[in-house]
Amino acid sequence: MARFRPICMVTDPLYLKHDTGGGAHPECPARLRAIAEKLASGPLAAVLSTVAPRRAERSWIIACHPEEYLFRLEEAALSGRAFIDHPDNQICFDSFDIAQLAAGAGLVGIDRLEEGHDELVFCSVRPPGHHAEPALALGFCLLNNVGIAARYWQNRHGRKKIAIIDWDAHHGNGIQTLFEEDPDIFYISIHEHPTFSFPGTGYVEECGSGRGAGTLLNIPLPPGSGDELILRAITDQVVPAIARFQPEAMIVAAGFDGHVLDDMSGLAYSTELYGQLGVHMAAMAREHCQGRLLSILEGGYHLEAMAASVEQYLMGLSAPFGA
Ligand SMILES: [Zn+2]
Repeated sequence: MARFRPICMVTDPLYLKHDTGGGAHPECPARLRAIAEKLASGPLAAVLSTVAPRRAERSWIIACHPEEYLFRLEEAALSGRAFIDHPDNQICFDSFDIAQLAAGAGLVGIDRLEEGHDELVFCSVRPPGHHAEPALALGFCLLNNVGIAARYWQNRHGRKKIAIIDWDAHHGNGIQTLFEEDPDIFYISIHEHPTFSFPGTGYVEECGSGRGAGTLLNIPLPPGSGDELILRAITDQVVPAIARFQPEAMIVAAGFDGHVLDDMSGLAYSTELYGQLGVHMAAMAREHCQGRLLSILEGGYHLEAMAASVEQYLMGLSAPFGA
């Protein structure tokens, strides 16, 4: 019997073409190379299959972003601008094209989950997406990959109730903006407290508005928080909230910048923590979604720690049940 269950990884060497201006930018092509090399040489190599993404079609992207923004992003890239909206968001000629390819990874992954090819899909993509607002690039993010995937799952495959769990060190302001008034998409984010951390949103009091009241859960953690606090948040708050919501599909915004070695946050998670997160995510997916789970890479900037943490996460996800 296999030690780990199969995992489908959606990725493409083309993601390396999104050039963020050279060695000083933390969101660099070497991130995906580090993940690929770590996984290829480790215990998951035998159960990993790799599938190519497609470019997200415009009809799916505009479910989250107005066309005016897409024209502006495309024009900025093709005209040779170095960044869009803020110098953090470095771009190159290929960035609009590659952003569409990053958004499309989730769509390919969802199709595979719905066709029964896989239960566990991990999208190893860049640029990341959870800070991207509908009409504003932010925090290295150009298109909201997770948001576009959630709308696709609803509109293409009829899964109405979607849970998004985000344990990147930073609050996913863009995902919150997209869905804070939507009762059918439950966004849960665990992040470093916004008083101390980018982007300054994600307070407990932000809990949804209008018809979406109650389907937004922000769990800020104080700087220095380690494994114990996040695991307690998962068991005491996330697991019961998901059980009440009864999702038909689950997406994880998987960011690895809460690692103690990652200086993009003041959180202090261990590498092993991510294995525990994987076990919890897989258990919730099994309980509510017949095991189907889509994970999409967000942050993570310490190359070695991130690659090791991704491996731990996937090992936790794919551990045989009952083990
Ligand atoms: Zn982050």
